[in-house]
Amino acid sequence: MSQTFLKYKLVLIPLALMMLLDLSLLAINYYVTAQIQVSANNINLAGRQRMLTQKITKLAALIHNSSHHQAPSADEMAKLAKAVALFDETLSAFSEGGRATAVSGEVVFINKLSGENAKESLIDAQFIWRPLHASLKYFLSSKAVTKPSSKQIMANLANSDEELLRLMSALTNSLEEEAKGRTNFLRSLQTAIVLVILVCFSIAIIRLIRRENYYNNLMEKTTDIVIGVDVKTALTTFVSGSVVELLGFNQQHYLSKPASLFFLKGSKSTFSEILEAVDKTGQLPTNRCEVRLLKRDGSILVADIVMQIALSENGKNVEVTAAIRDISERKAAEAVLIEQAHKDELTELPNRIVFYELAEHALNVAKRNKTRVAILYVDLDKFKPINDTYGHGVGDMVLRITASRITACLRKSDSVFRIGGDEFIVLLEGRVEEEGVASLAKNIIKSVSNVITIKDYSCQVGASIGVAIYPDNGVDIDVLTQRADKAMYKVKHSGRNDVCFAE
Ligand code: GH3
Ligand code: MG
Repeated sequence: MSQTFLKYKLVLIPLALMMLLDLSLLAINYYVTAQIQVSANNINLAGRQRMLTQKITKLAALIHNSSHHQAPSADEMAKLAKAVALFDETLSAFSEGGRATAVSGEVVFINKLSGENAKESLIDAQFIWRPLHASLKYFLSSKAVTKPSSKQIMANLANSDEELLRLMSALTNSLEEEAKGRTNFLRSLQTAIVLVILVCFSIAIIRLIRRENYYNNLMEKTTDIVIGVDVKTALTTFVSGSVVELLGFNQQHYLSKPASLFFLKGSKSTFSEILEAVDKTGQLPTNRCEVRLLKRDGSILVADIVMQIALSENGKNVEVTAAIRDISERKAAEAVLIEQAHKDELTELPNRIVFYELAEHALNVAKRNKTRVAILYVDLDKFKPINDTYGHGVGDMVLRITASRITACLRKSDSVFRIGGDEFIVLLEGRVEEEGVASLAKNIIKSVSNVITIKDYSCQVGASIGVAIYPDNGVDIDVLTQRADKAMYKVKHSGRNDVCFAE
């Protein structure tokens, strides 16, 4: 988990920040809505205070005027009492916080007003209202309204109603201003948060694009071709840009097409078997194999393919992803090494290793077919003196010419090997008869004995040949070689330049 976070932190951090900011935006929205509600209530109540100021003055005047002629009506008195009570309740709720009756009639809780201007208006209003409220209460509680008492109220109201009205208007204005200010602040905050969210989003997108480009770049620069193949459909879902360099076709040539397009016949079936196995078992039967790919110029690319199972980009399908590496050069180098290990550098004849391999094979064939195999052990006569007289360079030339002379004496089915120094072995298969073998040996001796002219030097060697025949002289290659060698030594001891059959 922490590794995943570290790997993707450049994208995850701005995305997490974005989510946090989104949540805070949501919270601010709720807060703004609640605040607007509170402000609207307060503004309504402040407006009602203005209206109540006027109502109290009007009702008091009505009661005062009517008291000249008759007793004021209970209804008017009740209206005045209600207006006074409402005004007082709302004013003290604004000042101290507490319950108030909303315009709708329901009881609401009001927080103590905190704005400086509102507080100032409230203090001034309280200062005027308290004595006025006391005398209004006294007036309303009197059993009978007397002319002096109503006169007193009218006098008090005359002194303060205009100021009270002005203060309530000021309160309404300051509440409106405050609400406007707060709403503007919250809107600016929301705008700022949205902008930061956009910045975070852009950063995350830019980083994602940069990351994608980074890996694409890597893929293009790598010498491997990276491919993705859907296991079910066998279609290519991804191919790296390096394909152009290695195979000559562009990415579009392969994308959404069968992956078999990459491979030559044998490799096609190998790869489709791998896909089938993954589809059935969910596991790769092998994670590495050698494949042959078709290049645009018609040539073949020998490649090593390393595979893995992965989920597709949308996370729904199983894919085999593979890195295909060109091993043509390695293969060519291996082939050179193999050839070097099997070839005599000087004469370019196959060496002792190949002799043993081919002789083994020839004996097996002869066993099956009940035929014979002849081994002619050839050692040059008096070769060393050429080295001693004319130098190794000339000796080398003599060895090369002798090798080609022996080869020229042979049929296609026969082979000659240089097995060391001035020693050669001729392997005869198929129709092997003593007479024929002896005649071939004589031909070789004759041909090898011809004078070789190198840089004005006349060189001459001879050849002593010992022959062993399967199955007459032995049934395994070591025995036969030893017998032929022994027969060759017999010739050496009896005057050289001749052929001798093993006994
Ligand atoms: P013999 O008639 O009894 O066979 O004697 P020889 O002079 O042919 O000498 P021998 O077969 O005893 O020894 C072979 C010599 O060939 C010994 C060695 O100095 C020489 N020789 C071995 N390999 C090479 C080579 O690659 N190049 C050259 N120039 N000489 C070689
Ligand atoms: Mg010799």
